[in-house]
Amino acid sequence: MDFSLTKEQEALQQEAREFGIKEILPVVHYFDKHDQMPVYLIRKAHAAGLSNLTIEEKYGGKGFGLMESAIVVEEIAAASPAMGTSIFGNTLGMEPLMMSDNEGAKDHYLPIFVKEPKICSFATSEPMMGSDVAGIRCKATKDGEDYILDGTKYWVTNGGYADYASIFATVDPKMRHKGICAFFVDMHQDGVITGEPIPKMGHKVSNTVAVKFDSYRVPADHVLAEPGKGFILGMRTFSRTRPIIASFATGAARSAMEFAIDYAKKRRAFGKKLEEFQNTQFRIAEMYQKIETMRLLMYKAAWEADSGMDPTVSASLTKFYSTEKAQEVVMSALQLFGGFGYTDMFPIEQILRDIRVLTIYEGTSEVQRIVVGRHAMNAYKPAMPPLDELVNLRADDPKKAAEEGMPEQKVWRCRICGHMHYGDEPPDECPVCRFPSSAFKNVWPKE
Ligand SMILES: Cc1cc2nc3c(=O)[nH]c(=O)nc-3n(C[C@H](O)[C@H](O)[C@H](O)COP(=O)(O)OP(=O)(O)OC[C@H]3O[C@@H](n4cnc5c(N)ncnc54)[C@H](O)[C@@H]3O)c2cc1C
Repeated sequence: MDFSLTKEQEALQQEAREFGIKEILPVVHYFDKHDQMPVYLIRKAHAAGLSNLTIEEKYGGKGFGLMESAIVVEEIAAASPAMGTSIFGNTLGMEPLMMSDNEGAKDHYLPIFVKEPKICSFATSEPMMGSDVAGIRCKATKDGEDYILDGTKYWVTNGGYADYASIFATVDPKMRHKGICAFFVDMHQDGVITGEPIPKMGHKVSNTVAVKFDSYRVPADHVLAEPGKGFILGMRTFSRTRPIIASFATGAARSAMEFAIDYAKKRRAFGKKLEEFQNTQFRIAEMYQKIETMRLLMYKAAWEADSGMDPTVSASLTKFYSTEKAQEVVMSALQLFGGFGYTDMFPIEQILRDIRVLTIYEGTSEVQRIVVGRHAMNAYKPAMPPLDELVNLRADDPKKAAEEGMPEQKVWRCRICGHMHYGDEPPDECPVCRFPSSAFKNVWPKE
């Protein structure tokens, strides 16, 4: 196991860091105050080669893995997690195309994304559903070989500026996940109507809108997933993009910690610098610990994806861990700033507003817990035997057991409280829970 970055990864990290510090950090406060997305920064990131990182080389792309994406995204998010959403929304939008088997659409569109700073959105969510992706209502009606889209998608990141989008719809809402299909749509054609930007608590430099489809015709060669295959495509997309949200969290938390350290070295109280209080040192140590853990989990998910494994569980794990811990780190940093932390004259309040959504979009923390809980309880293979088989681990042969130092006698286990009784017969009554002898099961020797 090697935790070091390659020379190329280090260089990429440095490039992204410089871009974040020189291009994003100095202007993000202004655009946040004006509730405006600086679209020019998306174009600049494209020109700097810092977006659309995972487009394969055969389409002219860089062919980077999730690991390189995670490294770049952390640096951009350190300058502004919301600008991270704006810049890397493209990856979310293009992922269904890249994972589809529509070779024609890939051959046509992916080189365009490499050459031009085109914007691509993604939409599963609607006004009436978000977590329950199988509950999509936007209707896809077959018309000859084409499909006609009717319905409203909601919360569409970059939707007001998008050139293209991966849109999930259904042939019949009653079919639930079996009816879901996906399309790659040109957002400049008739039948696409976008709403006003949705007013939000944070992520003000990220455009979020409703997109209404009104008899929008999708040509047959723009289908990414036929009915019944769209749900899986959506879930596979999230397995690759959730680690990126963890990178947003890591970058943002890291900045908050760094600003807090700087503040603690300068601010004085009771005749001392804040950094001299042990409370401050412990606070920073905990921030540092959480950030390191976030990054390790995120790298593991990225490594799994890049190694051809299914990263679904690790992606959920890192998403809910990192996004929740980031909130703790940023809240802790704000506390260290005292009253100034609560003002918009220092960057912490903006970071706090910007990261609040990370536990919500691309699957809430609750949804991630469902994925991880289901895995841990059903798919994960425990090493330990079931509790009521513990005694069975003794040698099969009672005589051999006696030679190994264990008394040659029967073992009985109370099924109610787990009490072990050693002897030829069970006791009349369990001495611990007082249930009668019928509660005892002979657990050794094996019958
Ligand atoms: C800034 C922003 C940008 C976004 N960008 C996009 C985008 O580009 N594309 C896109 O498609 N969507 C986008 N979204 C939508 C986002 O993915 C959804 O908001 C999110 O999935 C939650 O859905 P919901 O808001 O409908 O909440 P609901 O699904 O209504 O959930 C409400 C609450 O109930 C909980 N809950 C729901 N079901 C369960 C369950 N089974 N068990 C336990 N708890 C449950 C949820 O965790 C949540 O706390 C964006 C949202 C925001 C705020």
